[in-house]
Amino acid sequence: MNENYIKIESKSRIENIAAIRVAITSFLSTLNIHFDELMDIKTALSEAVTNAIDHGYDEEDKEGKIIVESYIYDYEKVIIKIIDYGKGIEDINLAMTPAYTSKPETEHAGMGFTIMESFMDEVIIDSKVNEGTIITLTKTIRKKKSGK
Ligand code: ATP
Ligand code: MG
Repeated sequence: MNENYIKIESKSRIENIAAIRVAITSFLSTLNIHFDELMDIKTALSEAVTNAIDHGYDEEDKEGKIIVESYIYDYEKVIIKIIDYGKGIEDINLAMTPAYTSKPETEHAGMGFTIMESFMDEVIIDSKVNEGTIITLTKTIRKKKSGK
């Protein structure tokens, strides 16, 4: 099996989301990937990274650590792990429920996990309260015909 990967470590700051997104997207661009699939992965990734920053750590905590790992297997299977060492998720089923948000008083719509699930083949949540959260996003991209 052919494996390739990159790993990015970042502080949990909103202003770093764009840099993470650009890095992962350009890494995946080395694949013969359709633009719409690249955009889908970018959207799912943004939701997970935003969650790690917004929910993993307290608002004042700009010193939290976020790690994003992106793997490509056999030029077609993409796995992205978004890791934080923050609060963790108490009730994973509740967190995944469409329109559930623990911050209803904010602009959050509770749609992040629903978006991730609709754009990726698989979304796995591993989380421990007060230890952190690992989101694993998986997608097998469709083969592009040469010249297109
Ligand atoms: P939206 O994504 O629409 O802005 P949201 O972030 O609240 O709203 P989801 O992304 O679906 O909605 O997440 C649902 C809930 O899961 C969050 O409100 C939060 O309580 C919890 N959650 C998600 N990611 C994390 C995380 N990394 N650490 C701790 N809690 C999380
Ligand atoms: Mg969210």
